[in-house]
Amino acid sequence: MNAKNHQQVLDYLEQARQVAKRAYCPYSKFSVGCVLVDAQGRVFEGCNVENASYSVTLCAERTAGSGAIAQGSRHWEAIYIVSPTRVSPCGTCRQFLFELAPELKIYLGDLQSKEFIGPVAIGDLLPMAMNLQQTTLPQP
Ligand SMILES: [Zn+2]
Repeated sequence: MNAKNHQQVLDYLEQARQVAKRAYCPYSKFSVGCVLVDAQGRVFEGCNVENASYSVTLCAERTAGSGAIAQGSRHWEAIYIVSPTRVSPCGTCRQFLFELAPELKIYLGDLQSKEFIGPVAIGDLLPMAMNLQQTTLPQP
């Protein structure tokens, strides 16, 4: 990774840190923020949104991805995620992200330091992922 790309990663992770401050997480207190970047360089932010009915909770990755889809973005290149412990996307989010971005690169940062993990390929986090082709029945 050259210096320019390294700085770009740090900038996106810093942006994600600002988004994490807006997370709604009164139950876990585990704030997560992310920045999803598409092939056109457009940026979509997401944070976790918890709910008293726990299963309704949305992860940061899915709030960013849903916003991107609503704005017409379907070709995602990278996602920059920050959390207190540099946690990787949960299983649900891995499947969600893989659907539209099977080549997605993932970067994981924390809320304080400039250290990060990545790039990690979504396919490495979700081997043998379920995809659209597998769930489309052949025409009779
Ligand atoms: Zn998740």
